[in-house]
Amino acid sequence: MDFFPAFLDLTGRRCLIVGGGDVALRKARLLHGAGARIRAVAPETSPAFAEFVKRHRIAHRVREFEAPDLDDCWLVVTATGNRDVDSAVRAAAGERRIFCNSVDDRANSSYITPAIVDRSPLVIAISSGGTAPVLARSVRERIELMLPARFGRLAELAGRWRERAKAGIADIADRRRFWETLFGGDIPSLAIGGRYDEAENAVAALLTDFSAGDPEPGKAWLVGAGPGDPDLLTVRALRILQTADVILHDRLVSGDVLALARRDADLVSVGKKPGCSLNTQEAINEKLVGLVRAGKHVCRLKGGDPFVFARGGEELEALRDAGFEAEVVPGITAAAGCAAYAGIPLTHRDVSQSVVLISAHGKDSVDRLDWPSLARDRQTLVFYMAVSRFPELMNRLIEHGRAAGTPIAIVERGTLPDQRVVRGHLGQLQLLREAQRIEPPAILIVGDVAAMGADRIAGSVAAGELLRAQGEPICAKQSF
Ligand code: SAH
Repeated sequence: MDFFPAFLDLTGRRCLIVGGGDVALRKARLLHGAGARIRAVAPETSPAFAEFVKRHRIAHRVREFEAPDLDDCWLVVTATGNRDVDSAVRAAAGERRIFCNSVDDRANSSYITPAIVDRSPLVIAISSGGTAPVLARSVRERIELMLPARFGRLAELAGRWRERAKAGIADIADRRRFWETLFGGDIPSLAIGGRYDEAENAVAALLTDFSAGDPEPGKAWLVGAGPGDPDLLTVRALRILQTADVILHDRLVSGDVLALARRDADLVSVGKKPGCSLNTQEAINEKLVGLVRAGKHVCRLKGGDPFVFARGGEELEALRDAGFEAEVVPGITAAAGCAAYAGIPLTHRDVSQSVVLISAHGKDSVDRLDWPSLARDRQTLVFYMAVSRFPELMNRLIEHGRAAGTPIAIVERGTLPDQRVVRGHLGQLQLLREAQRIEPPAILIVGDVAAMGADRIAGSVAAGELLRAQGEPICAKQSF
């Protein structure tokens, strides 16, 4: 963030405007609207500017800028269209520690003004840090469309109840929940729809409930974070991320997803590292139950889907055994996310009628698999947690009759900006891992569909045949 966003209270404070044209007038209007005491300096003014100055009795110095014009000022805007004047103003302001904005001249600005959506008292300011004002304006237009004109009434209503809520609900977390319940229910549409009395009564009733009631019990959500790209979160997952008090997350959950959490939420990593006993499943269950018992709203955030190779079932059971309800929010599992981002269809009318998701975690699990069935054709196999088991998987499948020429794709760090898709065929699996230095997290897709995807999209329909004929691995760094 190159600029620190802030809202300034300019009421009664002296601000200087250098310039007397239309742009200066626009700035003067904004500053005047914010209650500033304006001083203007310009040798010439447009008729509209002159009229504004007269109507609002603005102190106007009819001459070029001089440094003492900045005396007593908190802020200066220069809109002369003359870079020399702008930089002189900026230099003089800098010496006096006064923030200066030169319109459309970032180099001569120590603050910049945002695009504004005004639903006072709710004001939304948008900035691109001076890099793309038109983009900021287009974001503003979208927000304008999202917020009905009377949205400000909701903020006014909240403002009227703020002190009463503070007095009535002592605990900060309970108070936050009061506001979340208020904004998440019917009250906003009453206020925005102009039914103010009903809205007031509903707030009063809600406050009575919150002031009298026992503190709300804790709750837990088992939430799927998807495979990495934050755009793959569900709307529900995002909502929970933005309201939960504590987020217990796996190691695999991406930083971009965690960045969407509520600002003051506690982020706790309970990732299990292979070979590290620090966070056993029992310890995680205990932590989860303990937090809910303490009245917290806990988001247990897991990579992919919470019920696919994620031990979500055990956590749900632990919560239920302790007498707590929990809600499960599905996520996009790695197989679906990685296949989609690699352009590989998991099923295909012509070549694959079913998909099997397989965990290759631990030697025993590999031994327990039904290999004769997995080796059959016309199905897609997706192996999770398999990178260190590639030689065994390859040997077992081939032993049980799957052709060594069966196409495979390895998707490493799928859906993340550095996703890699490595293609080849089954007989090359270990070779590919070594040559391409594949590291977890990665999934392995086995089946004819694995030859489709990026190559097919680019028009090379015969990618599968090509691979079979040449026996050469194809490595594609995917860009999306
Ligand atoms: N619950 C998760 C799976 C957790 S098991 C889900 O539904 O996706 C962890 C394994 O998932 C990893 O070893 C890897 O095989 C796979 N995985 C998770 N995220 C991945 C990603 N971004 N790219 C490739 N594989 C991933």
